[in-house]
Amino acid sequence: MKCRCGKRAVFHSKVYRVTLCEDCYSKFYVNLVKRSVKRYGILKSSEKILACVSGGKDSTAMAYALKELGYNFELFHVDLGIDDYSKESLKAVEELSQVLDVNLNVVKLSDYGFTIKDANRRKVCSACGIAKRYLMNRFARERGFDVVSTAHTSEDIILFFIKNVLSGNVEYVAKLRPRIEGHDRLVAKAKPLFERTEKENAVLVLSLNLPFTPVECPFAPQDVWKEIIYDIELRKRGFKQNFVRGIAKLSESVETESWEFKHCKICGEVSNDEVCSFCKLRLKR
Ligand code: SF4
Ligand code: ZN
Repeated sequence: MKCRCGKRAVFHSKVYRVTLCEDCYSKFYVNLVKRSVKRYGILKSSEKILACVSGGKDSTAMAYALKELGYNFELFHVDLGIDDYSKESLKAVEELSQVLDVNLNVVKLSDYGFTIKDANRRKVCSACGIAKRYLMNRFARERGFDVVSTAHTSEDIILFFIKNVLSGNVEYVAKLRPRIEGHDRLVAKAKPLFERTEKENAVLVLSLNLPFTPVECPFAPQDVWKEIIYDIELRKRGFKQNFVRGIAKLSESVETESWEFKHCKICGEVSNDEVCSFCKLRLKR
């Protein structure tokens, strides 16, 4: 297969009806991100952005797109203390910082007195999510960043949507907005890749040879819902893209004004409870 420019193609999509080589694909990808950002007002050119990077392909692709689009941003990485996985992840984000010439900030979970391995094994991913959300928000606010950018893909959004609707947490759909404005001590959150798929991100980082770690977290769950989402896409091309656009629309219709927040009596951060989930994690060990 050949690209429209005549070079060997690395990407073919029936959804976009394109066949592209490495060079044409990276331009095409960055343009897709630009289009999402503009359509949903995800980022503003005046903002100082904290881009959260794990060392994986998705956040590497996000950082590349932010750089290409000329945003003012720095990288942020949480060292979770998960043996080889964390070592490889840190190595990848350090290389990424050099390749993109963007400052990297690293926060070690062990500096807060625990690692992810201390969490109850069945709840390790939930503990990890709590820690990452807490640390990125606090770091961003204390260092004067306007917005935190995360690399949630269309698969992540659909997965979160299905699970929350199935558990009856319909109002949580509001958390899936492509951009959530900040309030109180919470910094604005942006998801510039919410319309991108894992495959699109993978093709980008592989074709540009960007640094990322293929090492999987040893706690990564085998999620049958992810397989189901892939199956639907195979049978109904464009499903993911159309579905996340629907979720974005739906998320705007959820009323969040009445959501009440307290402040953690230990750390002072915004919390649903007297003590925030992060402090509960720290104290439990
Ligand atoms: Fe954290 Fe779970 Fe992801 Fe591992 S798989 S990085 S523990 S959320
Ligand atoms: Zn707290």
